Amino acid sequence: MRRLFYKGQLADRIQITGSDAHHLMHVMRAKPGQEIVVVDDMGKVGRMVMVAFSADAVTLDLKEELKADTESPLELILAQCLLKADKMDTVVQKAVELGATGVLPICSRNCVVRYDAKKAENRRIRWQKIADEAAKQCGRTALIEVRPIASLASFCEAVQQEGLDVVFCYENEEQETAKACLQKLAGGRIVLLVGPEGGFTLEEAAAITAAGGHSVTLGPRILRAETAAIAGLSIVQYEKGDLGS
Ligand code: SAM
Repeated sequence: MRRLFYKGQLADRIQITGSDAHHLMHVMRAKPGQEIVVVDDMGKVGRMVMVAFSADAVTLDLKEELKADTESPLELILAQCLLKADKMDTVVQKAVELGATGVLPICSRNCVVRYDAKKAENRRIRWQKIADEAAKQCGRTALIEVRPIASLASFCEAVQQEGLDVVFCYENEEQETAKACLQKLAGGRIVLLVGPEGGFTLEEAAAITAAGGHSVTLGPRILRAETAAIAGLSIVQYEKGDLGS
């Protein structure tokens, strides 16, 4: 059943307005009697029926509250260095499916793509739409935020200042495995950092480590960046979150 995120609290009767109402009426061509799953601001989920339509609003009545347990206990941010457009789209979508709670796009030395301010904002809006659609499709009860693109230097600064637990996927790490690193991290908030197609420079790797990032290997093979993001998220969610449970 189609899923809609509602900015408000579930009640016996609610009204959907704005772009969501427009989408229901003019894209889905919804009719009275049609049912939809609504997720509210607090993550409550309800099966609702459309009972009335006006020019700019759809009225829904609650049929039943549904059990919703699709959010991981782990706060997991994917810090992903910019990839070519379609790869980045895929990574954002998969991050949502794998339970990430945020995506932070990062611009580093070897990123092939470069955006000016206007294009960067257009990209962010596009990724946010992809994330919202993925959240609906995979049954999440929270939307995730795609943050504005940050430089690797400002990311390192934030890591140092906030003392974040950063799992730094580094293709040249030979000793520390992701599994061993995760077993040492006690907090419930993890940032997974994945490089661009061209990887990290030695200077960047040193800066990330100096800021407190824990460099880890994902295994003996060099993965494409988008594969590394998906594998890394899966490993973290398996070890510390809800994947496979
Ligand atoms: N520097 C390499 C090159 O150009 O040949 C490869 C970069 S790799 C395609 C892109 C990113 O995926 C890396 O920066 C790293 O974050 C991640 N990655 C890929 N394989 C990995 C592995 N075996 N262990 C840890 N990270 C890996």
